[in-house]
Amino acid sequence: LKSQGKDIINLSAGEPDFDTPAIIKIRAKEALDRGYTKYTPVSGIRELKEQIAARYRSHFGISVTDECVMISSGAKQALYNIIETLCNPEDEVIIPVPYWVSYPEIVKLCPAIPRFVDTTKTDFLLMPEDLEKAINNKTKVVILNSPCNPTGVVYPPDMLNDLIAVITRKNIFCLADEIYDELVYDELQPRTIMSGMESPLSNIAVVNGFSKTFSMTGWRLGYVIASPPIIQQATKVQSHTTSCASSISQYAAIAAYQEAKPCIERMRTSFEKRRDLVIKLLSNIDSISFPVPKGAFYVFFDVSKSYTRTIDSSMAMAEYLLEKYHVAIVPGAAFGDDRCLRLSFTLSPDKLKEGIERIQKGLLDVCR
Ligand code: PLP
Repeated sequence: LKSQGKDIINLSAGEPDFDTPAIIKIRAKEALDRGYTKYTPVSGIRELKEQIAARYRSHFGISVTDECVMISSGAKQALYNIIETLCNPEDEVIIPVPYWVSYPEIVKLCPAIPRFVDTTKTDFLLMPEDLEKAINNKTKVVILNSPCNPTGVVYPPDMLNDLIAVITRKNIFCLADEIYDELVYDELQPRTIMSGMESPLSNIAVVNGFSKTFSMTGWRLGYVIASPPIIQQATKVQSHTTSCASSISQYAAIAAYQEAKPCIERMRTSFEKRRDLVIKLLSNIDSISFPVPKGAFYVFFDVSKSYTRTIDSSMAMAEYLLEKYHVAIVPGAAFGDDRCLRLSFTLSPDKLKEGIERIQKGLLDVCR
């Protein structure tokens, strides 16, 4: 439609619209000039692993050393490597629904078996008792994602502790995807599931990365923090799949936590303002409902009250809104919830306003 000259408002992006902070680009250019253009150690360069470890020590008080860190080509590869490391065929991985689109596919590629647990009736949070009920003798891993893509829900610390208690008692592994940890609102502070622990437990791996916090999606840089034995095994998987993450991205990212902190805060504040605007505008649409996002940059809203005989799914609704109202939005079916649509607030306030007006009109007209 865009190539036909249609003015499409794209509310579907999974990445910040800001440029990568200038200091990170400067450090990348320096890395090129210094000839840092070769393979790096498989698990990443020591300087960056040390930076990451230092962040977990100083922010969260966990004694993380560089032996607990593996740097990968994006958080996605880190997630894949850990699942591949932990799971044998037939092992089961518990995934709370709604989920980030790639979790089930990563699990199936390994190949292991995704087992879904519905959270739509429990405020989009996986209840410890529901986790306990879902665990059987094939369960190997549970994936937790906080702040969550697509819902923006952030797990309260007490609930995380209760989940960890179940995970430890049942002797399964927890893979915590915390890629949106710095993008939290309403005065929440970044947290990790490991907060309060002395060092990474042998049954927890935390995945994080530079894509969202530093607007570096194209640099492909993520990491995992886990106990050294897990890191050693995951490094073997990485060595035979990608060898290492990009050397230039790694050298540039040393500047991220050290020198780009003010840029993160500017982006975070801007996202919070947009979140407030979007919530205000969406609240005017009577037929929809949604959890107010406390983190990330998405709103996941239920449009099923507007379904008709022909527009009877999230895909049909997304297609209708795209074709008739020129607004692009992701169908909830991609996240395991066919009642919903996911909107990203990664556009300017004017575009967000215009986009939500189009959605509102489309939802009103659908009933006529
Ligand atoms: N985890 C979640 C929840 C995400 O939303 C994304 C990207 O959309 C990723 C992981 C992957 O991030 P990366 O770009 O670092 O591979």
